[in-house]
Formats: sequence, C-alpha cells, structure tokens
Amino acid sequence: MPGGGGKVVIPPHGVIGALTETINSSLQSYFGTPEGIFRFKVPSDEQNGEARFFRFGADTQLYGRVAAETNPSVNGALHDYIEDADKSCDASLPFNPLEVAANLRTERYPLEGEKKGLMQEVVRLAYYTLRPLLPVGVRKYAQRRALRGWERLSFPNWPVERSVDRLFERLLMLRLKEHPDEAIPFIWFWPEGKQGCVLMTHDVETAAGLDACDALMSLNEKYGIRSSFQLIPGGRYHVQPHHIEGMRLRGFEVNIHDWNHDGSLFKERQTFAERATKINATAKKWNTVGFRSAALYRNVDWLRELDFEYDMSIPSCARLDPQRGGCCTLMPWFNGDLLEIPVTTIQDYSLFHILDRLDIEIWETQTKRILGHHGMATFIVHPDYIQTAETEQTYSQLLAYLAEQQSEAGAWIALPQEVNQWWRQRKQMRLELDIDGWHVTGPGSERAVVAFARLVNNDIDYTFGTPQQIEPYSKSAKTASIRSGIHA
Ligand SMILES: [Zn+2]
Repeated sequence: MPGGGGKVVIPPHGVIGALTETINSSLQSYFGTPEGIFRFKVPSDEQNGEARFFRFGADTQLYGRVAAETNPSVNGALHDYIEDADKSCDASLPFNPLEVAANLRTERYPLEGEKKGLMQEVVRLAYYTLRPLLPVGVRKYAQRRALRGWERLSFPNWPVERSVDRLFERLLMLRLKEHPDEAIPFIWFWPEGKQGCVLMTHDVETAAGLDACDALMSLNEKYGIRSSFQLIPGGRYHVQPHHIEGMRLRGFEVNIHDWNHDGSLFKERQTFAERATKINATAKKWNTVGFRSAALYRNVDWLRELDFEYDMSIPSCARLDPQRGGCCTLMPWFNGDLLEIPVTTIQDYSLFHILDRLDIEIWETQTKRILGHHGMATFIVHPDYIQTAETEQTYSQLLAYLAEQQSEAGAWIALPQEVNQWWRQRKQMRLELDIDGWHVTGPGSERAVVAFARLVNNDIDYTFGTPQQIEPYSKSAKTASIRSGIHA
C-alpha cells in the first residue's frame, strides 16, 4: 500500500522485485509524482550488514542496515553514502530507504546517553502521581536533573528534526541528477499551494484548565486561529456534553487525551488493552477521530489498536519530554491506517519550566525553519499553563506571530481533522497528463496544485506551473517561485 510515506511493508527474503516496487511507489506517494519516476534498486536481506548510523549527505544522519561490502565508519566518523549513490550508474542504493525511514519514524534507533531506571521513574512519578503534593520548585529540579545534557545530544536534531524528509529529498535529487534539465511534476504538499502548515492544539490537564477553555477560545478567535482541545475522559475532571458542544459550535475541535492521564497507558500490555477498550468506546460516544496520549508517552505499535483516524502523540524530536526519541519528520505519515501527526515544536511546559523562558524566540525559530522546509509546525499549549499574566502574554505573542505567518508567509493554519482529511485525499490523488499539461485528479483535487522539482545549483528547487506552460518533465516551469527549504 503506497502511503504518504506509506505503511512500510518489507517483503520476505529475496523478493527484490516487489521490494523495489514498494520503495519506488512509496517515494511516488510521498512526493505525489506520476508513476515510473523512481527506479531505485536496493540490497537484498542477504547483502545487508548490521544496522548502524550513517550519513546520506553531510547534514543527514540515518539509521539502518547498509550493504555489507560498503565502507563502515572511518576514524569514528559516520560514513557518507551519498557519493556512492551519486556514482551508481544503475540507480543502486547501498540501503533500503523505506526500512531506514521506518526505523526513524517508529523510533527504532539507539538513543545516546539515555537515562533509564530510578531517575526516569522519579520523574514520571513527580510528573503524575505526586504532582499535587510536590512544590513546583522540587518538580522542576527533578525534571531538569533527569534531562541534564539534553543540548549536547547529536541525534535526533534539535530544534528542528527532519531526517526522513531529507532522505526523501536526497533521493529526489539523485533522480533529478540523472537528467539535470528535467522538471519532475508532483502534487504540492499542502492545499492551495500553501507554503506549510500550522496546527495549534491544547491538552486540558486539570479542572481549572477545563474552566479556562472558554477564555482561551476567545483569545484564539481574536487572532483568527482555531485549534483542537484534547480532553481526558477517565479522570481528573468530568467532561460534560456542553463542554464538547460548546467547543464545536465555535469551530474548535475535540479529541481524546489519554484515558486517566496517570502516565501509565503504555506501561503494561494488559492495562493498555483495558484502557484502549474504554478509550475506543469514548471516541464513539464523543464522535471524535483524534487522539493524544499523556505527556507524549507512546508505543508506536500499540497505538494502531486505538480506533482513531489520527494520533498526535509522537514528537519529531523528543529531547525535553519524559520519553526520548522522535519520529524525525515534519510531515504527517501513516502508521498502518492511523495517520500520525507529529508534534514538531517545543511544548509550553518545557519552554516555561525547563528552559525558564517566557519569550517566543524558540517557537519563532522552529516555525520559520519548518515553514521554510514546507513542513507542519504543531504546537501544544495547555490552558493550565497559561494562567499567569506573563505566560498568557507569551501565548498571545505566539498567536500574533502565527497569524502573521498566515497572512505573510502563506502558512495554512488548520485543525488536525483538516490535515487528516487533506493527507488522506492527497494519498488517493493522481497526477495525469493531458493536452493542456499536468492535472491532479481524485476527491479534493480542486484544492491541489501541481508543483515542479528541479535541480538548481546542485540543490532542489520547487516551482508552481500552469498547465499551459509545462511540457512533460520540461524545465519551462517558470512561475511564482516557492522558497525552497533545502537552501535554508
Ligand atoms: Zn496532558
């Protein structure tokens, strides 16, 4: 099944034809290119060595199995396979890009300096069970201690992590290098040619937070920004039908936040199974299709057992969250049938209480870079944590900044359910050539825009074209230039 990244299916031993097919159709689906553009060959299972970190271009670190006869690291530096791939005359890659993308997206890579055991458990308890009893200062101290050294880690990248996207861009570049004067048409990532996407989401942690939602909606409305609220069904406060209706009537979205928010949803298989049944029943009752776990705790495989269309529990880079790792992409991706919408910016709690910042510089830096790369900037701001005049002012500044990105930088400020609908439609769309040029077909295609990828100064450049101007794969795609994130 090709997907926006697609469900990763690694065929059994030796089925190289099918394997190659899946890789190329997944790339086709990520970029929305016509069929037959990608023709990469990859090593078979027998040819592959042990999984390890390696580079694919100076700024792209990946993890996976690489063909055994190729070079390992030299003097401790990670080997860069981009040149081997560049020189390959039959489009052979030394690794399977789908396997590598799946390793990163599903967090199947080793974490350096991970602190496990007692301290991790103390932090978890400090965050949940003991929270009402512990003074804020003690809680912050425990969390900062556990996170010590976070800024010196080398992988995943911070403040913006997009290794999966860079991997796919590099493969597109390799394809373009075969015919440097070509332009490859594809279905632009976002509707109506928007530069990138912005999502505002609010997890409601306490009864006080729930009481603050009305005022928060009013504040958002002042800046024309609609958002989603994730509500806890099984504890902490009692969600009444009027809460849900009140949010929906004002154009906001309601999703489910964990079960009871005790930080234990994924600790034991049995507990998860019991809670999943209750969560799924609540999703039906509330008529909601989106989920997020408490504090972004997650198990990528178990998440698929929840009856939702999308999940928002996996950060692109988790350095300041209780569970480290990250899915290494700024784009939505399919975890089976579940659309994963990654959290790509720092949470308000980490900004205010771990980094001790009340300014929006980090949020601005992240948003600018994410939009520059045509990605999705997903924010979590809790009504519970913007109760003081200072924090509320910081949040207002963020809203003003995002509204500006919408009007000036062409950002699409969307609800998670809108992103879910678009990404599912885009996956079904097809790019077809007729006498007028390239057209997108399929449900929702009236909002789709044809873009062209070209090689400019040994880098990718994206442009939009009008059908009349474009010949198949020609370089005549002269139109409004999209700022290519590759240069940023
Ligand atoms: Zn929460």
